[in-house]
Amino acid sequence: MSKVSFSEAPPGIEGSGFFATRFDKVIGLARANSLWPLPFATSCCGIAYMATMGSHYDLARFGAERPSFSPRQADMLLVMGTIAKKMGPVLRQVYMQMAEPRWVIAVGACASSGGIFDSYSVLQGIDEVIPVDVYVPGCPPRPEAILDGIMRLQDIVKTESLNRRNTPEYQALLEKYDIKNG
Ligand code: SF4
Repeated sequence: MSKVSFSEAPPGIEGSGFFATRFDKVIGLARANSLWPLPFATSCCGIAYMATMGSHYDLARFGAERPSFSPRQADMLLVMGTIAKKMGPVLRQVYMQMAEPRWVIAVGACASSGGIFDSYSVLQGIDEVIPVDVYVPGCPPRPEAILDGIMRLQDIVKTESLNRRNTPEYQALLEKYDIKNG
């Protein structure tokens, strides 16, 4: 019989018939285990993502099995593949159409750094146009590496303050990219 494990409860105070914790911990737990991915796949790394979604690796175990092809119903942008400079503004527009809170994973060498394509036409990393939360190395990364990247993002999401997105630091980060928080 397969072993089923559950997410750990957030730290709190427990007694007979009650459990008290902080609101931001509960929200963080819920957000981290219900990320809705937007797969922005332009080349081979997209195939590794498809494998990650399949039954063997089963991204549904992490509550992220519902891919959204509308930025408005997604909160985890997965950028997979070589991003040409001409594609940069399109990627940026997709990011800006996502509502807060939103997170970004650069999946694979091309999205992270341009990969082997050190050429005039290829963006040398998507962080030239949008902020990135997690970088997944590999060309292509194995599905295990993509899962690991998503788990690293879950760690960020769980511990992130509810209001981080309104903090001066986050606003300054967006301003660096000339993005208005809407
Ligand atoms: S990192 Fe490698 S596998 Fe991924 S899109 Fe680039 S060339 Fe293809």
